[in-house]
Amino acid sequence: VIPFAEALTRLLGRARPVGVERVGLAEAAERVLAEDLVARAPLPFFDYSAMDGYALCRADLADGGPTTLPVLGESAAGSAPGHLTPGSACRIFTGAPLPAGADAVVPQEDVSREGDAATFPRAPAAGAFVRRRGADLTEGALALRRGARLGPGQLALAAGLDRPHLLVARRPSVSILATGDELRAPGEPGPLGSIPESNAYFVAAAARLAGATARVGPFVPDRLEAARAAVNEALAGADLLVTIGGVSVGDHDVVRPALEAAGVSLDFWRVAMKPGKPLAVGHLGDTLVLGLPGNPASASLTFLLFGIPLLRALAGEPRPLPRRRRLPIDGSLARSPGREEFLRARLDVGDEGTRARLLPNQASGAVTSFAEADALVVVPAAQGRVEAGERLEVIELADVYR
Ligand code: AMP
Ligand code: MG
Repeated sequence: VIPFAEALTRLLGRARPVGVERVGLAEAAERVLAEDLVARAPLPFFDYSAMDGYALCRADLADGGPTTLPVLGESAAGSAPGHLTPGSACRIFTGAPLPAGADAVVPQEDVSREGDAATFPRAPAAGAFVRRRGADLTEGALALRRGARLGPGQLALAAGLDRPHLLVARRPSVSILATGDELRAPGEPGPLGSIPESNAYFVAAAARLAGATARVGPFVPDRLEAARAAVNEALAGADLLVTIGGVSVGDHDVVRPALEAAGVSLDFWRVAMKPGKPLAVGHLGDTLVLGLPGNPASASLTFLLFGIPLLRALAGEPRPLPRRRRLPIDGSLARSPGREEFLRARLDVGDEGTRARLLPNQASGAVTSFAEADALVVVPAAQGRVEAGERLEVIELADVYR
């Protein structure tokens, strides 16, 4: 039995980033950038007006009082930059290039216009309402680092930098096998004693949220030869094989022998955590293997804590682990030291801060808890009883799925 942190380190230590591909910007949404993005030109590329108004040279205006200037020429968004005729003002619109010779813009609401003349009440500040070339990014500046997840803001920045394509990590591919003679598809008829399969839905959905592709194989019966054949098939082309159930030590737990028969080397299979003690980790060539326990809360939890960070590492994210922060806990729990425990909780956000409320049903078989939980409270292995009001580390599920 190995500690949770060591299990996680050993697993992530096996992650080799998957390959890269070049995709169009729209397709790059939520992917992981596989190149450093450097500004090849200043952003913005030219000085332009932030307002509808008049571009002028401040030296043409009187210091204290109003000045009237003739209005000559116009600069609209999309037009090429022109020249300001000395001693005049140029009509200008938002987004339009500042004419050469101008050094400020006066918004039209501050100007009185009469025919071809405009009166300015006072001289504007230097650079007023001008957006400067390179103010957002200078040429050669690092705009986005390799490993960055491309959310809306990052995509818009890449577009602003004139990049139609980006080099991104290939999506890691996850192959999922649910094992157990009791399983049937939701809604399918079955004898008493059968149950609807639910864990593969959790794993596939979570894997996709983390940017992977997921395929779910046919249910695997609790027989060694059938399980070995299913494992062989599921390994092909997968970066990660996830099996669910059958990984403990019961007579019908055939997953570990089936994995070994299929050629998978098991690195370890017991982790000092609760829920989720039986958890098999192995590899065959470049394909990594996670054998999750079948109990619904255990399967979900171990996939969130091991599977998702692994997928992030495979995609080249530099910080694949979710953040932890200390929060006061509502609710108490009797327990004995030994295993690191992860309690499903709900965050209560109030004016006095955030508290993590332990959910009443912490059973590893509970299918309800991950529909309700939005956080995990981490109880260190050495700790006994958890007292109400105590501060413990909390992982937000939103930060796992991110
Ligand atoms: P196991 O790990 O195979 O011993 O399964 C532990 C418990 O989880 C049993 O009650 C199983 O019926 C249940 N279980 C296993 N796999 C699944 C699954 N894919 N979906 C829902 N429940 C499951
Ligand atoms: Mg089973």
